[in-house]
Amino acid sequence: APVDMNRVAAEAVDRVRLTAEARGITVKLGGHVDRPVHGDADQLMTAVRNLVDNAVRYSPDKTTVGVGVSSVDGLAQVTVTDQGIGIGADEQDRVFERFYRVDSARSRQTGGTGLGLSIVKHVVANHGGEVTVWSQPGRGSTFTIRLPLWEDETDHRTSADSPGGDTPTRRPGAV
Ligand code: ATP
Ligand code: MG
Repeated sequence: APVDMNRVAAEAVDRVRLTAEARGITVKLGGHVDRPVHGDADQLMTAVRNLVDNAVRYSPDKTTVGVGVSSVDGLAQVTVTDQGIGIGADEQDRVFERFYRVDSARSRQTGGTGLGLSIVKHVVANHGGEVTVWSQPGRGSTFTIRLPLWEDETDHRTSADSPGGDTPTRRPGAV
């Protein structure tokens, strides 16, 4: 089904707002994507929420978290940027593994199971997209999700070839 990533991002931001405000963290939402993506709204919501929750959890008080929505190269892009503790270059691939947490002593204080990013990766892959990270320790992180935009893939076969052949078809790999 078509999923509006503007709404997904707005809802993810709404849900973290109180937690963020309690720590003086400002959450800013910006940008727009003018086409939906193909997929499951609840799963995509879970993915974006995990990124926004992380951004708040791994940031000091009184910093800013930015959530941006845009369309880039025919893809819907959602970025989540923080001014938090960051992730070292050698850990940036590993954080997507199940149960992997950077610095387990520190992570014990912040709670969590180490599953969030593995779920993000799984959901995004199931939607034919990708998730990437850019980070500098001590400066912050940006997680980026890119997903194929909805296309009305009209079946051009004639109705003789395919009864009801004018209905849009599902994109391969989409949920
Ligand atoms: P949960 O299952 O509750 O999400 P978690 O947050 O520890 O637990 P992940 O979301 O998978 O698990 O993240 C894995 C690890 O990556 C975290 O423990 C943390 O060390 C690191 N990490 C994730 N996001 C960020 C971020 N925005 N800034 C700094 N480190 C991060
Ligand atoms: Mg997490």
